[in-house]
Amino acid sequence: MKIGFLGLGNMGGPMALNLLKAGHQLTVFDLSKSALETLAAAGATTAPSIGALAVSDVELVITMLPAAQHVKSVYLGEGGLLANIAAGIPLIDSSTIDPMSAREVAQAAANNGNRMIDAPVSGGTGGAAAGTLTFMVGGEKADFDAALPILQGMGKNIVHCGPSGNGQVVKVANNMLLAITMIGTAEAMNLGASLGMDPKVLAGIINTSSGRCWSSDTYNPYPGVMEGVPASREYSGGFGSDLMLKDLGLATEAAKQARQPVILGALAQQLYQTFSGQGKGNLDFSAIIQLYNGDLK
Ligand code: NAD
Repeated sequence: MKIGFLGLGNMGGPMALNLLKAGHQLTVFDLSKSALETLAAAGATTAPSIGALAVSDVELVITMLPAAQHVKSVYLGEGGLLANIAAGIPLIDSSTIDPMSAREVAQAAANNGNRMIDAPVSGGTGGAAAGTLTFMVGGEKADFDAALPILQGMGKNIVHCGPSGNGQVVKVANNMLLAITMIGTAEAMNLGASLGMDPKVLAGIINTSSGRCWSSDTYNPYPGVMEGVPASREYSGGFGSDLMLKDLGLATEAAKQARQPVILGALAQQLYQTFSGQGKGNLDFSAIIQLYNGDLK
């Protein structure tokens, strides 16, 4: 299939590479020249602008952008996707944004004659590279079914969550929990280590005990405990703390609208805000352990 792919960052880059590996033809666009060069070297065609991508011969467009303002500007802006794309071309947005914005953009797409689903992901940059992402999809069931073979080129667990925006509802709830478990893991790891435990032994026991969670057994924040995670490369790459702060903002805002308490979610938001205020928002979100242990490496 001829696919247009916009947003080739930490997640979108490897996702697009997997679509190429799956045999699709890709036309790509990003503001970053180096991101475009990586995809061009792997066989993708690069477009000079969003509008040029939209009017090329793509049969489907996927976007993977940082936040709602980028999604709105790429879809709704002057020279954006909807202003240029032919009716009938399906659209998939995999960015993590608030459910209301996802519904607003999908409605604008529908008014333009384009069916759109929200398909945010979990699984991190490792899952993006391995093609094992989880996709949480909101939209019409028929549009989910049509997108499924494409999403299978990038993910393993692909779930229809209900109408437009519901993929984002699931994503926001999951990431709020992830932030809370990461902070909890950081706190427990740092406590054990400061009381004299070997952090590797401590993690090994937690990971076969009731404290085990994804943050402890797959993405441990303590330096030197696991290979191949951001904590073993000074918290570079991975999922930026500022992106986690953004997701916690989505969670607390959605909770306000639903009049639901998110007490630990709000506390997690404050901790990531503190961390970002220290100039560390570009570090992976597991670096939050530095609130406890300084910049232990
Ligand atoms: P990123 O910042 O690495 O990549 C975003 C890309 O979008 C960048 O290359 C940027 O140049 C590009 N971009 C921004 N505005 C653009 C525009 N107008 N036109 C074209 N390209 C534009 O972010 P990421 O880590 O890839 O995350 C993307 C989305 O996925 C976010 O919503 C994030 O919350 C979500 N997410 C990230 C992870 C993770 O582990 N990194 C995991 C799950 C979900």
